[in-house]
Amino acid sequence: MGSDTWSVVQDGYEAGRAGHFATVFSLANGVVGTRGTDEESRAGVPSTYVAGTFTRDHLGFKMLPNTPNWLSTRLTANGERFEPGSSRLEGYRRTLALREGVVRREVVWRVGGARLRIESERFLCLTEPRVAAMQYGVTVEAGTVQLFVETGFDLDAPFRGERTIETLTAGARDGGLLVVSETTASGVRIASAARVAASTGGAGTPVREGDLLLERFEVELRAGESFRFEKVVGFSTSRDGAPAVSGAGDVAEAALAAARTAAQAGYAGLLERHRAAWAREWAACAVAIEGDARAERALRYSMFQLLGAVSRDDERVSLGAKLLSGDGYRHHVFWDTELFMMPMFVHTQPAVARGMLRYRFGTLDGARRNAAANGYRGAWFPWESADDGREACPTKWVDEAGGEHPIRCGEFELHSGCDVAEAVRYYVRVTGDETLLWEGGVEMLLEMGRFWASRVVWNEAAARYELHHVMGPDEWHEDVNNSAYTNVLVQRALRTAVGVAERMRRERPDEWGALAGRIGLEPAELDEMTRVADGMFIPFDPATKRYVEFDGFDSLTPFEGDPRRAHTVFMSEDERRQVKIVKQADVIMLLYLLWEEHELDVIRANWDYYVPLTEHNTSLSASTHAIVAAWLGKVDEAYEFFVESAEADLGPTRPDTDGGLHGAAMGGTWMAVVHGLCGIRLSDEHVEIAPHLPAHWTGVTVPLMWRGIRFTVAVSPRAIEVTNADEARGLPLKVSGAVRECAPGASVRFPGRLERA
Ligand code: BGC
Repeated sequence: MGSDTWSVVQDGYEAGRAGHFATVFSLANGVVGTRGTDEESRAGVPSTYVAGTFTRDHLGFKMLPNTPNWLSTRLTANGERFEPGSSRLEGYRRTLALREGVVRREVVWRVGGARLRIESERFLCLTEPRVAAMQYGVTVEAGTVQLFVETGFDLDAPFRGERTIETLTAGARDGGLLVVSETTASGVRIASAARVAASTGGAGTPVREGDLLLERFEVELRAGESFRFEKVVGFSTSRDGAPAVSGAGDVAEAALAAARTAAQAGYAGLLERHRAAWAREWAACAVAIEGDARAERALRYSMFQLLGAVSRDDERVSLGAKLLSGDGYRHHVFWDTELFMMPMFVHTQPAVARGMLRYRFGTLDGARRNAAANGYRGAWFPWESADDGREACPTKWVDEAGGEHPIRCGEFELHSGCDVAEAVRYYVRVTGDETLLWEGGVEMLLEMGRFWASRVVWNEAAARYELHHVMGPDEWHEDVNNSAYTNVLVQRALRTAVGVAERMRRERPDEWGALAGRIGLEPAELDEMTRVADGMFIPFDPATKRYVEFDGFDSLTPFEGDPRRAHTVFMSEDERRQVKIVKQADVIMLLYLLWEEHELDVIRANWDYYVPLTEHNTSLSASTHAIVAAWLGKVDEAYEFFVESAEADLGPTRPDTDGGLHGAAMGGTWMAVVHGLCGIRLSDEHVEIAPHLPAHWTGVTVPLMWRGIRFTVAVSPRAIEVTNADEARGLPLKVSGAVRECAPGASVRFPGRLERA
């Protein structure tokens, strides 16, 4: 993948990797996401998802349905059908233009005695998120051809081979094509309407052939002549608007209206607005890395996919682990969202981060139900979240031979709740936006606090609270007691809850009274939360300066061999539980989150113990290790981990990209550059900068926000320069242990080699 750092390029068609590239060339605009499949092919699982339209598969698990493929196009020249995987290609090149949010493809097809150049372009409109657009052109470079070009929808849109939507209407309407479908299990209606304008000026002939609903154009072209069409598509679902519209008619009208308005704006007009919107996005956050084009491209690609997938106007949805790019993890929301993907938004577009947290507020009732169903008080935030906060984690997976295997993360992996609490705390600290607390945050934190207070057990002999039957981030060990990660973050979540509640009681007594009344909070409950936090067992051994990952970890059976290759050694789930091997950053993740609380010797002691035991068997692990390695001055290791994270999808290493992008790795890549290699950390008081740049990086520039102040940090091997774009307020900085203010509208330069403060 080459070219400039604002483009991702695929040169040459690789039949065996259609699924991989379909994921890599995915596009999204926060509402709609479309995989990057070829217009003329079903290879690579063509998929278009509309955020929030959850239904259930045959196993009963929630997922987003695939919807009719709006890219679907058939090209027939002199009687031969074009199919990229089997036609005679003389060239195939695809480019994802990151700056513009556009995918372009150029193909040369040798057919019979003719040579055709096929050029296509597509985008999901960022300014009109219920609109997608494509253009498609065929130019005859040699010979004469009889051409049929047909474009419309492919209604065969399975989810993992299963039909999860039924077509209610499909046909010609309003000078274009219209499809209305309904999810079979949840009754959500989804309409897509297309309008096609061809260079011939005439209208196409509607054709229905099996699952294909197309408009057909027929032309005869000689060398030098070409045919083109532009197609705009409007989407609508019965979730749109408030109150939800119902009936096929309403969604159909809304989709038709979106397509009509888009057609009036025209392809070029829409593209212009879309590009301007992308330019605004990048102006707020584009990072530059001098001296490492590969890193710069991979980082920009990661940021692009997060910016594309995130919702800007619907707080009922959040980012799934695979964004909107594939069916992996059934589009569920994990802790990946708050702790890996959200930081980039907190530091560059706080309003978007706020929306992501408000998604959790909106699912509080479901979390309450999870707790109640299991005999606890308060709110138990699910390990996997879909549309209503109830636990959406599948309880089993089925192998190819039909064998069923239990999945118990939903039962044990409780830390998602304290991760959300951590994200609220971090958001408020960095942005200074306390309204989030008063408008739902305090309620959510208190309900979580109630849950923890009822979930802990009192160990009489040791006189402490403990958490049993849990699973930390290290998923190789389920059903353990006292996960250090979980206990520490639960303690912090409880203290945060009590702290903000007490402030609300003091500073906003009326609102506090209303809230306490609504959720029936007894005054003694805050004392109980404080007692649990203070009495929580923290498995930290001052002698070794180490956290013990969970009770009994140290006496597990040592793993013989390279832990990185542990996945090649067959171990049953039970066997694996007995072995001292760590799936992913667990205690190391905790140390990253506790960055203000420990000196480097503690971080080093844990690093030396845990990293040699770690398999890194998920894309979430590398970024955390990159950050902590950088803090320890292990720059080469930090860089290797950074590359592993940055190339989770662009690189050749991971076999699972077919199922969708690795959203947490993408956010983690941004964090590895900003928090790790540049050593930029934002606290209540100041912005601390302590870089450890790789030797070949000659400069990094990062736009950021702290407490509403926009500023830029430029780090090079020779100096740090900060520019404060705020004309009214100074920016407190901490560099090499000294605090200094960067005056409003000014720049400040710290020369010399600068290490961790
Ligand atoms: C990881 C989890 C992660 C999930 C979704 C799993 O493999 O162990 O930490 O949340 O994938 O990305």
